[in-house]
Amino acid sequence: MTGTHNQPEVNIGLVGHVDHGKTTLVQALSGEWTDQHSEEMKRGISIRLGYADATFRQCPDVDAPECYTVDETCADGSESDPIRTVSFVDAPGHETLMATMLSGASLMDGAVLVVSATENVPQAQTEEHLMALDIIGIENIVIAQNKIDLVSPDRARRNYEQIQEFVEGTVAEDAPVVPISAQQEVNIDLLIQAIEEEIPTPDRDPNDEPQMYVARSFDINRPGTTWDDLTGGVLGGSLVQGKLTEGDELELRPGREIDEGGQTQWEPIQTDVRSLQAGGEMVDEVTPGGLLGVGTGLDPSLTKGDALAGQVAGTPGSLPPTWEQFTMKIDLLDRLVGMDEQNVDEISTGEPLMLTVGTATTVGAVTSARDDECEVSLKRPVCAPEGAKIAINRRIGARWRLIGIGTLTT
Ligand code: GDP
Ligand code: MG
Repeated sequence: MTGTHNQPEVNIGLVGHVDHGKTTLVQALSGEWTDQHSEEMKRGISIRLGYADATFRQCPDVDAPECYTVDETCADGSESDPIRTVSFVDAPGHETLMATMLSGASLMDGAVLVVSATENVPQAQTEEHLMALDIIGIENIVIAQNKIDLVSPDRARRNYEQIQEFVEGTVAEDAPVVPISAQQEVNIDLLIQAIEEEIPTPDRDPNDEPQMYVARSFDINRPGTTWDDLTGGVLGGSLVQGKLTEGDELELRPGREIDEGGQTQWEPIQTDVRSLQAGGEMVDEVTPGGLLGVGTGLDPSLTKGDALAGQVAGTPGSLPPTWEQFTMKIDLLDRLVGMDEQNVDEISTGEPLMLTVGTATTVGAVTSARDDECEVSLKRPVCAPEGAKIAINRRIGARWRLIGIGTLTT
């Protein structure tokens, strides 16, 4: 285990087909098993996507790549120096909802695409996730060719060539492919080196107004807690810009639904920051990177059971607009991911679509469809800037499938 608990400065998504080794790799890098959320639950922040922090370190007097490690002690007994702390966002196991992956992607600064050397390339989710990275615009990608301990050198080479062929012409075209065994911890040093080179910490303006994407929200009080002892509602999510400090005023958009004389409307919620948690510790100030827990002055009944998931929090008056309907420019995929034979039909007026905007997922009914544009009326409004990217899903058979990408226009 690493000893430092610095706040992570960059979020890296772990994506790829189920069982290809994402969670095992996160564990090799961070010592945490992200499939189990019980520890996080106790701390009051648990999210559908597992976050695990890892501090990359470097052994002095050792050449690259052998110098890269997550251990505090080097092979020669000397102590390693920390380089930076990163937060891995592990895509959930048997996901059927592309939206979960996409809502996590909005928080990712880069991604590691895990591809098992034991199967043909691409498997369905390998392709779907790569397309999602393309859509969200995540360009800093490292490909981990995993489970090389299970295949012959010949098979590994053929699989490597398949990967190269598969990523040709995609956002991952120039991504390095690093053969590893997450389970046997082979070539982890090479992988760290590739991540250090390909996924830099983004330049951020510390003077930007804070903006937090809320991925989850909780009531952390035990049943029966008396009013005096009640702790305010907790928000879990990530800051995408600016910084948050204890005592800051906070606005949440879209906020909550108010019923006024039979008319419903959405009203922003106002509160303040009572406590901050990052990198597993209570802190006074947070900057972008990793998972944050924000204790607020909100009535916990408002935050219970993820009620505020998908909202945006920030300085009052500084947040993007709330939309109950919008127009989006649409780019449809040529064909359905993982289903070579199926073309994507045009979007038609009246059809329901599942839309993911930031960490918000909402169903929208198409009120008007033209060639490359459509208007949608949302079941739940979203807070988003003009130009925001929207993942468009259509129900096909038993599940929602990604059919394209929208850009919010007015
Ligand atoms: P995920 O669904 O992508 O998160 O995959 P998991 O990390 O849960 O791994 C799926 C299975 O593959 C588990 O039984 C792991 O122990 C195994 N596994 C993962 N990485 C390796 C590896 O490098 N070598 C071998 N032999 N098994 C692995
Ligand atoms: Mg997993």
